[in-house]
Amino acid sequence: MKIWLDGGLQDTESARVSVFDHGLTVGDGIFETVKTVNGRPFALTRHLDRLTRSARGLGLPEPDLDEVRRACEAVIEANPMPLGRLRITFTGGHGPLGSDRGEHGPTLVVALGDTGRRPDSTAVITVPWTRNERGALTGLKTTSYAENVVALARAREQGASEALFGNTLGRLCEGTGSNVFVVLDGEIHTPPLASGCLAGITRALAVEWTGAAETDLPMDVLQRADEVFLTSTLRDVQAVRRVDDRELPGAPGPVTAKAMRIFDEHATADLDP
Ligand code: PLP
Repeated sequence: MKIWLDGGLQDTESARVSVFDHGLTVGDGIFETVKTVNGRPFALTRHLDRLTRSARGLGLPEPDLDEVRRACEAVIEANPMPLGRLRITFTGGHGPLGSDRGEHGPTLVVALGDTGRRPDSTAVITVPWTRNERGALTGLKTTSYAENVVALARAREQGASEALFGNTLGRLCEGTGSNVFVVLDGEIHTPPLASGCLAGITRALAVEWTGAAETDLPMDVLQRADEVFLTSTLRDVQAVRRVDDRELPGAPGPVTAKAMRIFDEHATADLDP
């Protein structure tokens, strides 16, 4: 496998990042996961916009988007695969222990991994921990993912693939790596960005393409919604067939199935929507 680091392609086995890289020591980094289909990235422009917003939010230098694009192209070309996940990681770089910021410029790593086709439906749990809707990192896609790792481990213990968080106000927020949608009386709703959720790119496209409403929702909506689905780069639109102990038989239900179809049609027609 080849990855991009320090301005060029390198072998994964021999590529090295400093042990004092701030992305490693303090989580001072941002990232994007971009789906690739037959060697082409999906929605790359939106991902690069969010990467820039995350960099600004964290006070990192802005990434050179021409380099990031060149890196993505080079990595995709060097590692052919039908369905892949590009991982763009950008950190503050390395500096002496105790320094506030890296002193040698930022680190950019672009890597590509294989990804299978996602199942049409999945089980989720809710977790008692909260997303902070007013934190310094709210809405930024940072490499500080430890809380998500803990929540996901709990989901796996319970036979689920995703854990959903409420925010500090007890309102529905998002999953560890996905946004959440519910169907009520035939209408699709998803929590607003003010809930503290990430501005998911799949979420935005699903809202645009299905006309879903952004609605402040209580957590217990998951116990009464007619249908529930998730969106993310690697899940696209994915139906939920169980929330905690509540089974949702027949998932994907009719509204979710339609949303999946609409998403697939638009995403196939335009790879950079
Ligand atoms: N929420 C969180 C916390 C995420 O990490 C992600 C993606 O990784 C999402 C939502 C979904 O965003 P996207 O559709 O851009 O993949």
